[in-house]
Amino acid sequence: MSSMYRILCLSHDPAIVIEHPEFHSGSNGRELAEAVVLRGIEGHKGCDLLIGRYSYPLIEVGCPDRTREHVGGYHPHHTVWVDAIWLKLLYLAQRAPKDSPERQLAERAPMPGCWTPERLHCLRTELDLAEGTTQ
Ligand SMILES: [Zn+2]
Ligand SMILES: [Zn+2]
Repeated sequence: MSSMYRILCLSHDPAIVIEHPEFHSGSNGRELAEAVVLRGIEGHKGCDLLIGRYSYPLIEVGCPDRTREHVGGYHPHHTVWVDAIWLKLLYLAQRAPKDSPERQLAERAPMPGCWTPERLHCLRTELDLAEGTTQ
């Protein structure tokens, strides 16, 4: 299966999609994208970067290995990958009424620091969630 990798900068709302010829396609796109995030990207120093795998549309999102902790997450030496469909469900569940079972499940989701409501909010356009459908 051919995939394309893009870097997603979540320090902007909505997230900025960064194209990079180095990891655009090819068999080792995943490794190259991870290496680029660790090295840092010109114009996005200190930004919150994720990796998107696209096969059109976005199918998987990776939270890269960071030495620094981010909100409630800490996973040095590996990237946490999640299917985009789960992130969509999580996004919707995080916005469900406060005492609903969906919302309670969302709050118990694994790696909460990786997938906070704030981060998913910035990702909503890439996740193809129409704006203004919730709240
Ligand atoms: Zn940025
Ligand atoms: Zn993470």
